[in-house]
Amino acid sequence: MSDCIFCKIVDGKIPAGKLAESEHALAFADINPAAPVHALVIPKQHIATLNDVKDWAVMGEIFELAARVAREKGLDKSGWRAVINTGRDANQLVLHIHLHVIGGRQLSWPPG
Ligand code: AMP
Ligand code: ZN
Repeated sequence: MSDCIFCKIVDGKIPAGKLAESEHALAFADINPAAPVHALVIPKQHIATLNDVKDWAVMGEIFELAARVAREKGLDKSGWRAVINTGRDANQLVLHIHLHVIGGRQLSWPPG
């Protein structure tokens, strides 16, 4: 998807604070962090939303990379949150699946 900002990050056309990658997934720092640790984990292939997933194996890879990033940041000790916003009511702003990895402070629940 040539006009997708996260595809451009995968292709190296715009910079990102890369944290880790696996064969089909990439983790980088969120540009507007909501907590001391805020990473995004995305499929390297363009998939707009969870409603569009066909091969669910890639989602397993995304969660595996998210857990690796969380561990590398020490969040496995303190706790962390994995969030995928999907569609309008969830305020999904970027239409390329991204798993938020959020931690490093006490998080409130439920979300607003
Ligand atoms: P969402 O509301 O779930 O679609 O979240 C989109 C997230 O992408 C937000 O947390 C933004 O701060 C983040 N974001 C947008 N553009 C970039 C970028 N170029 N690099 C890193 N994070 C970004
Ligand atoms: Zn994309």
